[in-house]
Amino acid sequence: MAKSPESEHPIKAYGYAARDTSGVLSPLTFSRRATGDKDVRFKVLYCGICHSDLHFIKNEWGVTTYPITPGHEIVGIVTEVGSKVEKFKVGDKVGVGCIVGSCNSCESCAKDLESYCPKQILTYGYIDHDGTRTYGGYSDHMVADEHFVLRWPENLPLDSGAPLLCAGITTYSPLRHFGLDKPGVKVGVVGLGGLGHAAVKFAKAFGAEVTVFSTTPAKKQEAVEGLKADHFIVSKDQKQMQSAASTLDGIIDTVSASHSIAPLLNALKPDGKLVLVGAPEKSFDLAAFSLITGRKMVAGSATGGLKETQEMLDFAAKHGITADIELIPIDYVNTAMGRMLKSDVKYRFVIDVANSLKAP
Ligand SMILES: [Zn+2]
Ligand SMILES: [Zn+2]
Repeated sequence: MAKSPESEHPIKAYGYAARDTSGVLSPLTFSRRATGDKDVRFKVLYCGICHSDLHFIKNEWGVTTYPITPGHEIVGIVTEVGSKVEKFKVGDKVGVGCIVGSCNSCESCAKDLESYCPKQILTYGYIDHDGTRTYGGYSDHMVADEHFVLRWPENLPLDSGAPLLCAGITTYSPLRHFGLDKPGVKVGVVGLGGLGHAAVKFAKAFGAEVTVFSTTPAKKQEAVEGLKADHFIVSKDQKQMQSAASTLDGIIDTVSASHSIAPLLNALKPDGKLVLVGAPEKSFDLAAFSLITGRKMVAGSATGGLKETQEMLDFAAKHGITADIELIPIDYVNTAMGRMLKSDVKYRFVIDVANSLKAP
């Protein structure tokens, strides 16, 4: 028989969890494993709120078991390390992103692409190697194998840096992989939310010329003045879309609401790539000719592996890249979820876990 969250492990933990598809989060006492030989235990200081958290707590992808404690943009301070841990010591600043385990024997794992391992273990709502469930960062502390723990660069802020662990790497990785990381390349970013604003910052730091596509004309000022995008196009405006025809080497599409990709493919130069990182529920309508006539490509990309995530954090620290955030206490989390659903946040909520989560 499955053990209760409180009694699976010896170490008491405290956090916020959803207990049913209403997705309402409330305090939960659960447990975490004792620090194993290769484990790093840390006190959680900050945790970003990702749109995936909302999908999971409402079981919108049909894979959720309750109770679920979300959060995969987690930063904190190491409090204990196992006897065989090599990379970390007590007091170090660390982060954990979307993954806490993988098979370590497949082709993807061998290539440092744990995010494409078929047996990857996600940071929350998954079954760990020992058969118990994983709990995310809306909680007082965290324990993970050191391989899945990131070293936090000294000059990278902990609170506004937290969202880099999902939103950051999800946009950095495709920019790198698809060659959109060079001075002068022309990159489009569709959607200006948590992912989109990170994509603009990384693309600009790589030296790319960036065009933001948004359905909201009011976002022009934020895009051009705030984020230093070079161009802004209202994607509903056919005339503006036509003016962008055949101008871009690649596009990072972050939108998770249903939308048409034909106008975006039209904005690509020959050999251009449209990379999907948002995940609309409805399938896209794709005409073969829209690809054939310019040898264009539609691709997808998930988060990056651990090696690349560390590289991304170091790059962000070097170039002063953080997320624009609104820092909230944990008892505001349900309100924050509602606001996120209405895109009423610039651009990421981050929970001030250590200062607002008090165990009873
Ligand atoms: Zn995420
Ligand atoms: Zn693997």
